[in-house]
Amino acid sequence: MRVVRERIAAACARSGRSPSEVTLIAVTKGVAAEAIRKAIDSGITDIGENRVQETADKRPSVADVDVTWHMIGHLQTNKVKAALSLFDIIHSVDSLRLAEAISSRALSNVPVFVEVNVSQEPTKTGFALEQLPDAVRAMRALPNLDVRGLMTVAPLFERSEDARPIFRRLREAAHEAGLGQLSMGMTSDYETAVEEGATHVRIGQAIFGERPA
Ligand SMILES: *Cc1c(COP(=O)(O)O)cnc(C)c1O
Repeated sequence: MRVVRERIAAACARSGRSPSEVTLIAVTKGVAAEAIRKAIDSGITDIGENRVQETADKRPSVADVDVTWHMIGHLQTNKVKAALSLFDIIHSVDSLRLAEAISSRALSNVPVFVEVNVSQEPTKTGFALEQLPDAVRAMRALPNLDVRGLMTVAPLFERSEDARPIFRRLREAAHEAGLGQLSMGMTSDYETAVEEGATHVRIGQAIFGERPA
């Protein structure tokens, strides 16, 4: 984790940013509760999970520590109620239907990111760039929904440099929509994402080691 923080700081230095602008989310899918606890002991303040059930199983064993929980995976509308009781922020709002479900079940303002499928990969969910202006406008009109920014998962390239145009387009789209936050960058490409303006990086394997496939 120290190495990850150092690399984030170096990417910030290269791009004239401050490391305080970048939230490091430790992605703990597939990671046991004890290891999550250790990460929190060594300074992790933000945890990312991609499944409601797995989080419901693990969260009780780390309930006594004050961390922010981020939902980063695809969320089905029938799991919204459970998700709202487990997570503080939802990064993966990939349809208007989901935004409406969150809005109608939330008891207070829920911070969300709108997920964008920048390179239009068929295997990924998320809005196309062209859909964003209308989608963001519609979500801003919903009660109890605080649209903070845009989120994307870049394709897995051999060289992280190849992800740069994707991160740049997400930054431009956020700027056009008047949104300040960018959730982008994972183990394979976070330094590039930080150089391109990421405010939230979601990192699993670089912190916890390789995940079995
Ligand atoms: C698993 C996951 C990550 C973290 O991936 P690593 O390669 O372990 O860093 C980030 N974002 C999302 C949406 C994920 O599902």
